[in-house]
Amino acid sequence: MAYSYDPTNIFARILRGEIPNRTVIETEHTLAFEDINPSAPVHVLVIPKGPYVCFDHFAADASAEEIADFHRAVAGICRKLGISPGEGGQGYRVLSNAGHHGHQEVPHYHMHLLAGRPLGPMLAR
Ligand code: 5GP
Repeated sequence: MAYSYDPTNIFARILRGEIPNRTVIETEHTLAFEDINPSAPVHVLVIPKGPYVCFDHFAADASAEEIADFHRAVAGICRKLGISPGEGGQGYRVLSNAGHHGHQEVPHYHMHLLAGRPLGPMLAR
């Protein structure tokens, strides 16, 4: 996989404890924290602790344990925040930006979890 990870990126610094964050959930392989510039009443960033640049890098190179931990952490946040439609919540959107066309700003894989209001159509046309 032709990815090289930049350990100076802002999320790497959060993981090293160099920058504070408002943690929502932390597990062995995953950290979730509030986005500093929220786009919705709920805007959580979920990141693996390992050095993965974007979604396909993580999906290709992370261990099965890391991948399961990451997704179970997302489910745990949905439960914790009461947004799971399966449990009476109003729903949410997950998305992940990758690379230039994806408008990714921070080169450490992260999933945005957005909720708390109707989120509108998926993309502006
Ligand atoms: P991207 O465009 O890479 O998908 O999203 C990066 C996200 O990281 C943005 O929503 C931005 O607000 C958030 N962000 C950038 N720097 C920080 C930071 O220092 N702390 C937190 N909590 N979020 C950040």
